[in-house]
This record gives sequence, C-alpha cells and structure tokens, in this order.
Amino acid sequence: MSFAELGLSEPILRAVTEKGYTDPTPIQAQAIPIILKGGDLTGASQTGTGKTAAFALPSLSRIEKKGKPQILVLEPTRELAHQVAEQFEEYGKHTGLHVCLLYGGVGYGKQDEDIAKADIVVATPGRLVDHFYRGTMRFGEIKILILDEVDRMLDMGFLPIVRKIVNLCPWKMPAEEADEESKRPANPATDRQTLFFSATMPPTIEQFAKWCLTDPAEVQI
Ligand code: AMP
Repeated sequence: MSFAELGLSEPILRAVTEKGYTDPTPIQAQAIPIILKGGDLTGASQTGTGKTAAFALPSLSRIEKKGKPQILVLEPTRELAHQVAEQFEEYGKHTGLHVCLLYGGVGYGKQDEDIAKADIVVATPGRLVDHFYRGTMRFGEIKILILDEVDRMLDMGFLPIVRKIVNLCPWKMPAEEADEESKRPANPATDRQTLFFSATMPPTIEQFAKWCLTDPAEVQI
C-alpha cells in the first residue's frame, strides 16, 4: 500500500513525498482511509508509530481554507502541542491553511492574532478554554476534533475541562437517535468527526471515549 493509493489530496501527497516518506506506517495505512471517509476513530497507539501523520494527513485533506478553526487538536503539554502544530504546518504547506498554536504561560497578543486567521488550532486544554471565555476562540465551524494522548490529559486532571471543550464543539448525532430526515445534518458544521488517541484504555477512558465518539472504528498497533 502506497500513500498515493490512500486517497489523500494532491497538496498533502506532495508534502509527504517532499518529506521523503515512501510507505505509510501500519497505523497510517489503517487510519487514513477511515478518517478520509469522515468516520470516528479510536487509536491505541504509542508515539513513534507515525500517529501524528496518521491523523494530520487525512484531516488536512478534508478541509478548505476558511480562516476559521475547522480542525481542533488537544494535547496534554506545550511540547507536544508544539511538535504537532509543526507537523500540521509541514504537511499542509501547499494548502494555504493556517495553523495556530495555543498554550499557557505566555501572553495573549500573538495567539489572538493567530486564532483570527486559523483553520487549524493545536492547543493545551486550559489556554484553549481561556480563549473561549475571552471570546477569541470560536467552535462553531469545528469539523474534526482530535483528542491526542487522552490518558496523559486525564492523568493531569484535565477531564472536566476536556469534557467542556467537547461540549463546545458542534455535535454529531448518533445514528440510532436520528430520525430518517435528520440522519445527515444539512449543515456540515454540525457533523463533527472525532478522533481519539490514548496509549492505554482503562475503563474511565473507555467510558469517556464512548461519550465523545459515534460508532468509532478501532485502530490498534
Ligand atoms: P509520531 O509517531 O507521530 O511521533 O512520528 C514518529 C516519527 O516518524 C516522526 O518523526 C515522523 O516524521 C516520522 N514518520 C511518520 N510517518 C512516517 C512515514 N510514513 N515514513 C517515515 N517516517 C515517518
């Protein structure tokens, strides 16, 4: 299986080729087609497996430049948020999409400017919610929500705040609760896709995943 066969958009495929990747890693080969179709997904995968590209490449392929946050990625730490934002920028370099990085402990000025034109927001939970209360971060156009390293976020006590963030994002109606007419919401902004990654899946996380996701595919390495 080659990257070209996975169905990624042309600008993304070009960036992957320039990066020198020849073949998708196992998690990429499994996850990319599912994410491109709009499905929810849980992945029990460690870092070092190509996980970031597994969610970044297909997510980037699914959006168009709007200057409003459409992809939201939550990371437990500033370092991880930084690394992931960098990868989104690299893989998206031929798309014209804007990536914005948000974390605490620094001023708001540059972050406010960055959010105002962002298509992709990579953030730690506390600072993201600060931006919501300040009125600088809007969630109405979020199409793909990516919760990364969920076990670490929960270990750090972020569960209540991550729940709040999930609730702020547009809602995807579970198929069994939707009537025939409303099965596919007419407004795509209400049709959120959620991707959920955690190295471990103890019962608390399993339960949280159930609450966040709709009929998720499970990818395990
Ligand atoms: P991650 O698991 O996301 O931390 O990625 C681990 C490393 O693998 C990163 O440095 C990526 O640049 C690299 N990588 C990701 N996908 C591929 C691929 N398909 N081929 C070669 N290297 C890759």
